[in-house]
Amino acid sequence: MKRKLNNNNNNESHNELIEEENNEIIHDCDSCDEIDNEEIIPEAPPLKKVQTDKQSKLKPKQTSITDFFSPTTIKKTSKNDKVSPFFSNAIDTSTTTNSNNKNVNKKTTTTNVKKNNDKDDEDKEDENEEEDDDEEDDDDKKTKKSNKKLATTTTYKKKSSPKKKVNPTENKFSTINYKDDEYKQKEEYSSSKKDKLENVKIGGHVSIKTGYPSLIQSVVAQGFKAVAFFTNPPRTWKHHTVKLDDSIKFKQSCKTHNFDVNCILPHGSYFLNLGSPNKENLQKSRDLMIHEMKNCEILGVKHFNFHPGSHLNEISEAESIKIVAESLDYILERTKDVVAVIECTAGQGTNLGYTFEHLRDMIALVKDKSRVGVCLDTCHMFAAGYNISSKSNCDVIFEEFDKVVGFKYLKGVHLNDSKSTCGSKLDRHENIGKGHIGTPCFKYLVNDKRFQNVPMILETVGPYDQEVKLLYSFIEDDVKK
Ligand SMILES: [Zn+2]
Ligand SMILES: [Zn+2]
Repeated sequence: MKRKLNNNNNNESHNELIEEENNEIIHDCDSCDEIDNEEIIPEAPPLKKVQTDKQSKLKPKQTSITDFFSPTTIKKTSKNDKVSPFFSNAIDTSTTTNSNNKNVNKKTTTTNVKKNNDKDDEDKEDENEEEDDDEEDDDDKKTKKSNKKLATTTTYKKKSSPKKKVNPTENKFSTINYKDDEYKQKEEYSSSKKDKLENVKIGGHVSIKTGYPSLIQSVVAQGFKAVAFFTNPPRTWKHHTVKLDDSIKFKQSCKTHNFDVNCILPHGSYFLNLGSPNKENLQKSRDLMIHEMKNCEILGVKHFNFHPGSHLNEISEAESIKIVAESLDYILERTKDVVAVIECTAGQGTNLGYTFEHLRDMIALVKDKSRVGVCLDTCHMFAAGYNISSKSNCDVIFEEFDKVVGFKYLKGVHLNDSKSTCGSKLDRHENIGKGHIGTPCFKYLVNDKRFQNVPMILETVGPYDQEVKLLYSFIEDDVKK
């Protein structure tokens, strides 16, 4: 099937046709990419500002996932529906103006059923889940056995009581040192507008269609100080290797343009599920991520961003989180230098990583903490239930992030407004200031010194050059306040 990404970005690299065949997406170049297309959803309804505070408060409730997946819903989503563990681009966006979780659930379920009628499309959408389903019988007993083994010290339960809240201070792993010198150093960053303009690193996720040698030059021309791209097409298990000649030119252009290599944050494949309960899929995910991190090594890039994975309703969140950490140990042993940067998620489907506590627990279980970090996606945070739509809320939420995870682990930010409401668990990116999050959050991020020298990447429809300009225009001199 062919599908055109609905993308109004002037950047022609985003207007690509992609072909899907035999569970692969064949791009029109070697290692081409497209931006998170499931996160850029066409035909959004006109947005209304919806007051979401009643249900969303400041942090997501662990419990909402229980509501979201009532036993009947679980059956539909896990068995019949081919919705990707890394979200679908086909879910009805009419849910985005709906602030009632129950209604969202119903609509999503209806959409899921509708989706089953269109198998041609859906079969391509989710290799992970499909494969897991196919092999469920084989793996079921093993999984159940291993579940018992895995039941450890964690506080999470898949079917936790609706009123249960996770206490951020209740760190069962407690191996993270929250206050250390690295973070104190950041406190010394300047608050003058001039210095901030230098230290705030804004950019966007671009296609590498035009090739690595000219990539940095092209993004610098758009005003970027940070950049993201896929080193491997995001929806294939096939391994594409970065050519040595390209990497030499890429490294050279970074030097020529004085582009900070720490602000280059490639994004991982959507097929990765490092927390998969299915052994075969888990191994394929680990191998693919090793390959992608090796691509980063070839390019001289120090950070690699990925979505942690999904429990697929076959094991508990805690068990899946443990598998993610084991996967990271496995991958980090087989790669060097590159830091694995875990992205927070909207909690859509059975995705892990939608609370700070999930991120904390993954880090806590990884052996080499010098090679693990996190990336905060504003749209994902908001959809997960962190209401970052006002400055005062941002103060509280980012303080909580610091307490639970720690800013020293922050290696990237994805700047996206949200088409969906707070707590909706729907990952729908919107241009800056045009969604339910609104500009105060983005003004906060570009002015807060804790985010300086952290790559902040747009994953919106764009055009990026204008959005980058807009974001830099938010920077103020602190002393004037
Ligand atoms: Zn992402
Ligand atoms: Zn993102």
